Amino acid sequence: MIESFFFFIGGVQPKIKVLEETPRRCPRCGLHQVYLKRVDHYLSIFFIPVLKIKTGQPVLICNRCERHAHGSGSDRSRSQPASPTTKSCRFCDRNFPADYIFCPICGRKL
Ligand SMILES: [Zn+2]
Ligand SMILES: [Zn+2]
Repeated sequence: MIESFFFFIGGVQPKIKVLEETPRRCPRCGLHQVYLKRVDHYLSIFFIPVLKIKTGQPVLICNRCERHAHGSGSDRSRSQPASPTTKSCRFCDRNFPADYIFCPICGRKL
C-alpha cells in the first residue's frame, strides 16, 4: 500500500546535463552541433528531482543527427567482419567508422 503510493508520487527521472558549452564538429554532418552530454538519473518526488541515484557516462551527441558520435561501429563490424569499415586520422593516429568525414578529436578532414 505504502510502496504503491510512493511509486505514484515519486519516480526516477533522467536529467540531461551538457558538460561542454562549446560544440564540437560532427564527424557525420560536419556541423558544429556535437555536445558532450551526460544523462543522470534522479529520484524525484512530485516531479522534482531530489536525489541523484545514478551518474551516466559522458557521450557525444550531435543535435542535428541526434546520434551518438561514438560507439556505433561495433555492431556493423560484427555483420561484415571482412570489409574495412574504418578510416584513420593521420594526425591523431586513431581509427573511426568509414562514414566519418571529419576527425572528432582534431576536427580535420579524414
Ligand atoms: Zn551531425
Ligand atoms: Zn584527428
